[in-house]
Amino acid sequence: MSLKDILSPFYAWKRTLEKPYTIKKPIEEREGADRYRGFHVNDIEKCIGCGTCEEICQNEAIDMVPVDFIHAKKGDSGLRPQIDYGRCCWCALCVDVCPTGSLGMSNDYIWVTPDPEEWVFKPGVDDNPWKDDDKGYRRTDEAWLLDPKLTPMPVMEPDVRKNTFDEMAYGYEVTMAIEEASRCLECGICIDACPTHMDIPEYIKSIRENRLEDGLKILYDTNPFSDSCGRVCTAHCQDVCALGHNGDPIAIRWLKRYITDQTADRRYEILGIGKPLPEKDGAVGIIGGGPAGLTAAFYLRNYGYKVTVYEQHDKLGGMLRYGIPQYRLPKEVLDREIQTILDTGVEVKYNVKVGKDISLKELKDKYDALFISVGAQIGTQMPIEGIDTPGVLVGLEFLDQIAEGKRPNLGERVMVVGGGNTAMDVCRSSVRLGVKEVFVYYRRTEAEMPANDEEIEEAKEEGVKFEFLATRTKITKEGDKLKVQCIRMQLGEPDATGRRRPIPIEGSEFTVEVD
Ligand code: SF4
Ligand code: SF4
Repeated sequence: MSLKDILSPFYAWKRTLEKPYTIKKPIEEREGADRYRGFHVNDIEKCIGCGTCEEICQNEAIDMVPVDFIHAKKGDSGLRPQIDYGRCCWCALCVDVCPTGSLGMSNDYIWVTPDPEEWVFKPGVDDNPWKDDDKGYRRTDEAWLLDPKLTPMPVMEPDVRKNTFDEMAYGYEVTMAIEEASRCLECGICIDACPTHMDIPEYIKSIRENRLEDGLKILYDTNPFSDSCGRVCTAHCQDVCALGHNGDPIAIRWLKRYITDQTADRRYEILGIGKPLPEKDGAVGIIGGGPAGLTAAFYLRNYGYKVTVYEQHDKLGGMLRYGIPQYRLPKEVLDREIQTILDTGVEVKYNVKVGKDISLKELKDKYDALFISVGAQIGTQMPIEGIDTPGVLVGLEFLDQIAEGKRPNLGERVMVVGGGNTAMDVCRSSVRLGVKEVFVYYRRTEAEMPANDEEIEEAKEEGVKFEFLATRTKITKEGDKLKVQCIRMQLGEPDATGRRRPIPIEGSEFTVEVD
């Protein structure tokens, strides 16, 4: 043992006479730079609890946790990120990926506590000195790790499609579908907004990984009308898609269509349609062969029950067949998915109107269970003077004629009243019938229109003219023309639907002549 070893404990004792090296709180605080990456901040009103921040964190520093006063709703999981600063390395990947831009970092970096539990915070929820800091790191558009632009769908040019009822959207090619599928965050926020709770992230993933057979099975797990939904669904899923907060939502509907189109010729083999099903005791009668009735028929049949559908028309499909024009949903596509359902062994009685050809009581006696799915068949008409004048058509009746292959002569000028998807189908079908001037009159503004934005845009591209804040009050016939008396409107307080109520402006009446 050397002399140095013998004396070394005394060196340590020497330190007791020196000033302490550890700095006690409060220390002299130096403010972080303006874009310093300090403790996180989160605008919890903007945050949707998608969990993308949790997913990207390589240190597993983020957990999505419930918060007392935040409740789950469509487009919001109700969870919020909680960050463990024992794990966080301040890389800011979570900030750069956040689709809503709610997550940021303050330039505050000092927090002294002996309790390790106090190193775990829910930014924006817990009360910290930096909670409302506006300095620090925020992601810029250039730093965003996500692709905000949707892959466009190839469609027929407006001048071409105006003259034909042929389907106007051609469908994604493989590279387009993979590119679009690659934008998905797999957060699953969309699932709750889908009425059939389809596993959207999983079927989108199947496209990315070229496993379309798996994708088709996922679609059929909850929806045997994926062909139609891939074309004409109102896509509430897209309304809440996390990416839609700062860019284009994922084209979920078109990706669904991609799977059904690409697997159409292998569908029976992939789904095992036509193979024997487990047979159970029990028979179910279904009144109405529209999408609801046939969906019930498909799943009941797959459970092994005997199923008979009573349909008043000579064809199945309900509103999908009679209410949606061919250029949006070709009948061949609808027929192929209906045939898939029927080939599970569903029996159909066509041209039978329940209540006329057979009574409800007879059906109740005959079956163990009845499913009534008659749909909303009757169009609505505002009770105004002259509504019965020849030349005034109900939207759904007109679309029914088009679906039957009829091509009525509407003349040169047509007025369509309303702002929903039916009004869009009617005005765009009128264009295709060769009507020179088609006007849509809507009593609110474009912002309140219930029709899909895409439909409105496409109608405009096809030359449809829109007159907002105006409606008709009286219709008369003069010679072979219709004189429509209209009035201008203004918006008042919101009504029960949450939209602002249209109020007529006195003295603003005007007349429009149409065919
Ligand atoms: S990524 Fe953004 S929106 Fe999603 S949970 Fe995290 S902070 Fe909230
Ligand atoms: S489609 Fe949108 S909401 Fe759905 S999982 Fe993908 S990113 Fe999330």
